[in-house]
Amino acid sequence: MPQGFVRAFILGSSPINEQDKFVFLLSQEKGFLKAIAPGSLKVKNRFGSLFELFTKGEFSCYWKENKEIITISKGEIIKSYFNTVSNPENIFYFYLISEILLKSLAPNQQDKRVFKLMESILNNRVEGVEINFLLLYFLIWILRIEGMMFNPSICYNCFLKDINKAWVKNNFRGILCEKCKSNEKFTLNTEELNYIKWTEKNPPKNSNIWKNKIDINKMIKLFVKKIESHTESTLKSSRYITELN
Ligand SMILES: [Zn+2]
Repeated sequence: MPQGFVRAFILGSSPINEQDKFVFLLSQEKGFLKAIAPGSLKVKNRFGSLFELFTKGEFSCYWKENKEIITISKGEIIKSYFNTVSNPENIFYFYLISEILLKSLAPNQQDKRVFKLMESILNNRVEGVEINFLLLYFLIWILRIEGMMFNPSICYNCFLKDINKAWVKNNFRGILCEKCKSNEKFTLNTEELNYIKWTEKNPPKNSNIWKNKIDINKMIKLFVKKIESHTESTLKSSRYITELN
């Protein structure tokens, strides 16, 4: 049976039976992985707090040929984000982020940018960047990585370039110029379109420069709805976030 090490973030878990649970991992090298952690639900178990949401760990595992599910034999914490993630100010945002990752990452999705994105979101929160900015940055990037982000410069209908006010199509697949708009619900102004372009080249660290320039709540709502529309599902954790209600 092949064996190896996986460096990954914990995305969540679900019980299999009274003793064991499935653990969902976002790994650095292999993308999304589903693992069995034998004995992890026993009161005394060898994993301790290894499986807290978004803990970064190194896991020793083995797998059967042709099987997608790996088995974790042991592991150690590389970095715990427990204090940040479980803080009442942040917890529901991280629930939503993990729900989105679990819904949108396909097994065998090996894009290394997702792991890097998550690392950047967590470290920037530890360093004090506001959580709503980080959620917005995450939403735009996960759509971009999945190939679902619209081009913020071009009208979807008439290909007019460099538009400075946009109406987002009701199916969220593109933006329209003033001439092509009809009954769209969401609009984006120049600064908001520029912010989307800015995220392409810049880390979230200096998000603060956009404060009072963009409507963060509206944008979070827009991109959550866009993800719901693409995944054809409702994101349950979104109901706990003030911006979305
Ligand atoms: Zn147009």
